[in-house]
Amino acid sequence: MYKAKAYSAASAKSPMASSSIPRRDPSEQDVQIEILFCGICHSDLHSVRDEWNEFTPTVYPIVPGHEIVGRVTKAGSAVKQFKPGDLAAVGCMVDSDGTCPECRAGRENFCPNMALTFNSPDTHLGGVTYGGYSESIVVDHKFVLHVPSNLNPAGAAPLLCAGITTYSPMRHWGVAKGKKVGVVGLGGLGHMGVKIAHALGAHVVVFTTSPNKKEDAQRLGADEIVVSKNADEMLKHAESFDFILDTVSADHDINAYLNLLRRDGNLTIVGAPPKPLGVSAFALIMRRRSFSGSNIGGIRETQEMLDFCGKHNITADVEIIPIQKVNEAYERLLKSDVKYRFSIDMASLKSE
Ligand code: NAP
Ligand code: ZN
Repeated sequence: MYKAKAYSAASAKSPMASSSIPRRDPSEQDVQIEILFCGICHSDLHSVRDEWNEFTPTVYPIVPGHEIVGRVTKAGSAVKQFKPGDLAAVGCMVDSDGTCPECRAGRENFCPNMALTFNSPDTHLGGVTYGGYSESIVVDHKFVLHVPSNLNPAGAAPLLCAGITTYSPMRHWGVAKGKKVGVVGLGGLGHMGVKIAHALGAHVVVFTTSPNKKEDAQRLGADEIVVSKNADEMLKHAESFDFILDTVSADHDINAYLNLLRRDGNLTIVGAPPKPLGVSAFALIMRRRSFSGSNIGGIRETQEMLDFCGKHNITADVEIIPIQKVNEAYERLLKSDVKYRFSIDMASLKSE
């Protein structure tokens, strides 16, 4: 075991602050990574403030962060795919049982024993897992990914959650050329959803509550932009969508979007507002519409997504910040004031 510098929160009401955490010594199966960049996902904020308490209570201290890109500093003797100096990435998961039907099918994200990168039981050291707001991490090589060399590390980090969480449902529901696709909320997930849907060839419509994001939405790949507070603009799109991806982090009217689906259309929610949403039965039954959810993606699919982004030169639009600005970044995230993902330059931890 060794000590690593990190940023953690001591309680739901405490700010993030400098601390020191234990990391395991790498075993023969493990990869040790010096973290270069870590994206800030809204899930970090939900967890730090214990907003998902009813579903998954936060254990303190918490070290969030699951959009990790770094350099391999050590690879165990059984690890063939990585060597010191390689660029490597870690996303939302660090372990799973490897034997259940979901794992065998490459869907570790649905394994009942999957361990998240932070706030899951740590089977190696006890306590809970600690995430990427840290100088280093040690992870089983099966959960470490390769980053295409043409992608810049700061912008590639958010692909590990925002990228795969939007890519996976779009592939599952057949987003492709000829399909009309809506993306609700232009934040970290939403802006990746727009880039990916555009690269898949779909006609992309962005729904935003922020009129000042209109030009950006177009630049990111949207064909049309709707300010969702404008009822007339919404009405123009009634019953026309094949697929809508909802990335909103707070309470909102889901029926307004279900009514925009055509017959047999699907709305997938990936945003995780803490409180239940009220779904109108009529919005679904009258056009045989479906409403579903999606949880990140499996490791195989995450690598597929990274390779897809490498091929299409897709990274997140990032605002790079030092770790010392993380509390300010959280406040801005709550105001939908991020264009479009914060990426923490982990070199800033060295001065702590
Ligand atoms: P984010 O960057 O904060 O983006 C959320 C966007 O939602 C905002 O930019 C805003 O877009 C819109 N929004 C915020 N409050 C709203 C409100 N009251 N009404 C309507 N729209 C609102 O967050 P993120 O990192 O993309 O994460 C989004 C959600 O996905 C979070 O709940 C997160 O926990 C969840 N998540 C789920 C998974 C999964 O596997 N399912 C993975 C990662 C994250 P506009 O300004 O354009 O309106
Ligand atoms: Zn995330």
